[in-house]
Amino acid sequence: MEKKIIKTDLLVIGGGAAGSYAAVTARREDPELNVTVIEKAHIERSGCLAAGINAINAYLNPGETPESYLHYVKNDSYGLVRDDLVYSIGRGLNKVTREVEDWGLKILKDEDGNYLKRSSRSIKIEGENFKEILADEVERSGVRVLNKTAAFNYIKKDGRVCGAFALNLREDRFYVIKAKAVICATGGAAGIYEPNNSGRAKHKMWYPPFNTGAGYAMGIRAGAEMTTFEMRFVALRVKDVIAPTGSFAFAGGRQVNQQGEEYLKKYSRITTAMRLYATVRENKEGRGPCYLDLGHLEADKKEKLAESLLGMCPGVVLKWEDNQQEFSELKVEIEGTEPYIVGGHCQSGYWIGLDRSTTLPGLFAAGDVAGGAPKKYVTGAFVEGEIAAKSAVREIKELPQNFLDINISELITNEYQRVKTVLDNPEGAAASRLEEKLQQIMENYAGGRSQYYELEASKLKQARSKLKELKAESRNLKADSLRDFLAVQELLERIDVAEVLIEHLLYREETRWPAYQSRLDFPQRKKEWRKFVNSRRSPVTGKIEIIEREYKSLEEYSSFADRSQEDFYLEYNL
Ligand SMILES: Cc1cc2nc3c(=O)[nH]c(=O)nc-3n(C[C@H](O)[C@H](O)[C@H](O)COP(=O)(O)OP(=O)(O)OC[C@H]3O[C@@H](n4cnc5c(N)ncnc54)[C@H](O)[C@@H]3O)c2cc1C
Repeated sequence: MEKKIIKTDLLVIGGGAAGSYAAVTARREDPELNVTVIEKAHIERSGCLAAGINAINAYLNPGETPESYLHYVKNDSYGLVRDDLVYSIGRGLNKVTREVEDWGLKILKDEDGNYLKRSSRSIKIEGENFKEILADEVERSGVRVLNKTAAFNYIKKDGRVCGAFALNLREDRFYVIKAKAVICATGGAAGIYEPNNSGRAKHKMWYPPFNTGAGYAMGIRAGAEMTTFEMRFVALRVKDVIAPTGSFAFAGGRQVNQQGEEYLKKYSRITTAMRLYATVRENKEGRGPCYLDLGHLEADKKEKLAESLLGMCPGVVLKWEDNQQEFSELKVEIEGTEPYIVGGHCQSGYWIGLDRSTTLPGLFAAGDVAGGAPKKYVTGAFVEGEIAAKSAVREIKELPQNFLDINISELITNEYQRVKTVLDNPEGAAASRLEEKLQQIMENYAGGRSQYYELEASKLKQARSKLKELKAESRNLKADSLRDFLAVQELLERIDVAEVLIEHLLYREETRWPAYQSRLDFPQRKKEWRKFVNSRRSPVTGKIEIIEREYKSLEEYSSFADRSQEDFYLEYNL
């Protein structure tokens, strides 16, 4: 395994939605800037957008405003979000949408040229090739892209993040990437709980299976403050194929139980979490399985639905064809997925400032890896990428010319040796075996799907101690190749995320988000818990400390870093 040291002004880790947008923005801000993106897969087909999408879920249609967007997101999240972050996203949503349209994204329009609404805050697109469009723009901007390159630890010197260690599987290389500033955009974490499908279909999950929480884990190890891991995200999806239910619901699908009853009518406050919770309850109380019933729709509406699904989730359409199912009696079975940790649908991630700086100097975060702002989706990830890039470029300009001459030879030796030790280990467990163990622990003791997502302290404490044993076991793993080593690394990432998750789940002694975080021992939502549960793992002792942070309304965030909010938006063109 060869070592390669490179230098760059700005390092973007993860070439997904947020990372691509950040890289393009940085080059636009300063065309002289040397910007490098490292991407674990290939930038043309990676992350959440890999398979394409058919809607932009966060867009302000006429009548909507950044304020109404904040109101909606806060209400859907039971009153607890970072108002400043959500509002700032609201200010940028339409601008980034127009931008990606200019880059080539096809947005569907009516006869008058207006975007076609899917709901008050979403529009229809033909986004099968969304990722390629972003990749082309990154290339056009003159950004250096290292594909098949997975970051696994930050380089941290004198308290500042100044690059990352990464592995390139194609080149069989150990990369040391020194950077003046780093943007983490590695997405969220999947595969912490037992997936819905098993065996060779285990990767048929909602969230990308290769978003394994690397960015979270690197931050946790380096001592960054993290927020709201306990707000897990569980998607309500079409069984087996894990197709999105939103497209069916917006087409007019009715959520019914086995008896054909529209069970959501029994609940008063229908939020995203509640749609899932109600379905889980129907199943638990013997009235499942549940369905989205489309039988009443006119034939042309069903055809249109099938067409739009072909651009995002063709599996479901193929399954209908396979079963020779008649469109007239179309009814799809729905269920919840495994829980994920994801800051773009829920709000688990780095605790960040309005400028998207993390608590670690030199490090910024954007997209699903950044916390505090749920329902940001793809356009929110773009807005955060843009803000993070502008902030990083400003900071880079302040650094001395010779900043990258820092001596990190000892760090390089240690990290290289760590990889070599696993590669040279003739014995030890395979990562896949421990991955299954991890998923079983989380499934059974930390509210997996089979447990109706329910949580209680006694079981969570068992999860904590079983994870401790697992962690000890994970110190003796083997890898016969760099590819195997990546699997080891992914396992370690998931364990780090799971450990922090357990502490968050234990700490919040209420039920704030039904099904995402349902405590059997604290079933009520409590006023005094309208606050953030944050954590920080000490890089020295490994101990996880919980930090409470108060909720603040938008008005209470009147200023940011000695300037008014409005000045900030003006400066950032939002
Ligand atoms: C199945 C699915 C459907 C969705 N549909 C819609 C929709 O219809 N409309 C909508 O608005 N939003 C949708 N979303 C949400 C939206 O796609 C995401 O919120 C957004 O893409 C998040 O951007 P991100 O950059 O944070 O993550 P991603 O786009 O996932 O990018 C993360 C990138 O980091 C890379 N990476 C991970 N680990 C490493 C590492 N160690 N080193 C280097 N690179 C790494 C990954 O390969 C990936 O390319 C959907 C999400 C999913 C999962």
